[in-house]
Amino acid sequence: MFSFLEAWAADSFCLHLSQRAVEIREFRDSDPAAGVAAGKSELASIQEQALDCPDAQALIEGAIASNLHILGRNEEALERFKRGLELAQDNDDPAVLAVLHRGAGVALADLEAHDRALAHYLDSMAASERLGDTIEVGKTASNIGNLYNILGDLDAARDYHLQALSRFELLDWPMGIAGSSINMGSVEAKLADRAARAGLEDEALRANQALFDHNARALEIFQALDNRRGIAYASNNLGTALDRLGEPEQAMAYHNTALELRREIGDVFGVVQSLKTMADSALVMGRLAEAERLLDEAEAVIPEGHLSLAVGIAERRVRVAEAAEDFRQALAYQREVTRIRSEISEEESVRRVQELRVAFDAEQQEKMIDLLRSEALVADLRAQRQRLLFQVSLAVGVLLFALILLLYGRYRLRVRVNAELLKVANTDTLTGLANRREVSRQIEAGIERSRQSGEPFALILADIDDFKPINDRLGHKAGDEVLVHLARILTENVRGRDLVARWGGEEFLLFLPSTNLGAAEMVANNLRNAISSQPLDLDGESISLTLTFGISEFRPGDTAESTIAAADQAMYRGKQRGKNQILTAE
Ligand code: GH3
Ligand code: MG
Ligand code: MG
Repeated sequence: MFSFLEAWAADSFCLHLSQRAVEIREFRDSDPAAGVAAGKSELASIQEQALDCPDAQALIEGAIASNLHILGRNEEALERFKRGLELAQDNDDPAVLAVLHRGAGVALADLEAHDRALAHYLDSMAASERLGDTIEVGKTASNIGNLYNILGDLDAARDYHLQALSRFELLDWPMGIAGSSINMGSVEAKLADRAARAGLEDEALRANQALFDHNARALEIFQALDNRRGIAYASNNLGTALDRLGEPEQAMAYHNTALELRREIGDVFGVVQSLKTMADSALVMGRLAEAERLLDEAEAVIPEGHLSLAVGIAERRVRVAEAAEDFRQALAYQREVTRIRSEISEEESVRRVQELRVAFDAEQQEKMIDLLRSEALVADLRAQRQRLLFQVSLAVGVLLFALILLLYGRYRLRVRVNAELLKVANTDTLTGLANRREVSRQIEAGIERSRQSGEPFALILADIDDFKPINDRLGHKAGDEVLVHLARILTENVRGRDLVARWGGEEFLLFLPSTNLGAAEMVANNLRNAISSQPLDLDGESISLTLTFGISEFRPGDTAESTIAAADQAMYRGKQRGKNQILTAE
């Protein structure tokens, strides 16, 4: 029993909240900021009391969003509509869904996401039809008409607005009739522009007159309803119509009415629109400074990133500059127009919506398929973007690789040059053997190693016997050949880790790591035999060569100098004893 009462109480409370949502939504026509505040406080109290009224909560989110939309805060509005749709999902009440989907569509249309807007409108229309609510169907038809109007498909726009108008007339719903009249007027305005561009003056006049008539009807209704937003809208449009019909003074009066009302309401888009149309009037009357001031004012209130409003202002600046015959300035503004337009890339949106439109005109059952198609479209666009991204990364990658190759090539070159320089610095140019500098360095390193490991090393100093007479008899060049010949034999008859160096003019110094005196003596013996067995052939003359070898072994406490000196002394003794000898240090 109690639970029944509780449920009943909860239900009636939820119903009350849903009615409250409708009230909050109405704020948008008078004070949208207050509507946002009222909605937020209602949500807070729902949370505080932990009420379970998802539909009512969804409607309040939607009501806040509708007010945010009027304030030009479309992203926030969209978030709220989405939250509302999530809340309404479980109950699946078509009345709630119709309102929220339509609201989301309007916010998206203002954010220039036209394809997503259309998808929400279609959902809204489906929900309204499920509900059997002709008014709601008419409202959505209006919104779709507006969407086509924005996209420049004026015939489709007129079809939908006529459909909406006839439904509202049938139901005798004044608000709907007024709204549809405004919308029809807007289509007529564009048709007039199109006719004027094509030079069809009669057609333009007819359309402008229709613009006036539709809005005059709307103004009358809005005045009867005391709807200030509507009055402002219709007045603004009447001003535009009068401008076009050549009545700028009368037009300005309507514009002022509209602007004042819109400022009072806080209708940002309305204010911008009023200021733009007033600038048009001022331009028609040749009041260029005033036109410019109005455009400055409009630009100051445009919400961040609202490109289609910005392009409208830039276009007017072009016209003002042209009227002032400041063609350079006009050109600069024209560039600005082009720049903004390219950002909008309207064409792409039109194409995507037109593909979707095929879906809408077909039977309701096909809607799913078409929504799928739109998803496929989005996926396709995403894939395109990814492909582009891939191509760009590939290009960047190739460039980077080329750069790396280039840098690596340079690096390799530098390393090679450095190595070359090092080799040149350490090598004897005539024989290609290590030079005195290099062998000294290696002996120092060998001493360091020996100190650590205790391993010995040996040095062999070898001096060519009677080299001077060869030089004197056969020439310096022959002497050089002797040096090269001997260098080769020495190198070929030692181990890889042994180092053969040119110590001086006709002296070779051999550094033998990990070698003691006895082993070095054997090496010297091998060398002596190799040299004696390979006389040098110079111009058919066989020249026998001998060397005198002095050998020393490094011992702890020795230095490079003392070790070399010991080998030198041994070699000197060999010379004294008759050359072609191998002597070890004492
Ligand atoms: P010994 O048997 O006592 O060593 O007598 P030697 O003639 O070999 O020695 P000496 O020191 O009297 O002469 C060495 C000669 O080597 C003097 C110099 O002209 C020559 N010489 C030094 N360096 C080079 C060189 O690079 N090329 C040529 N062709 N000769 C060189
Ligand atoms: Mg000598
Ligand atoms: Mg000599």
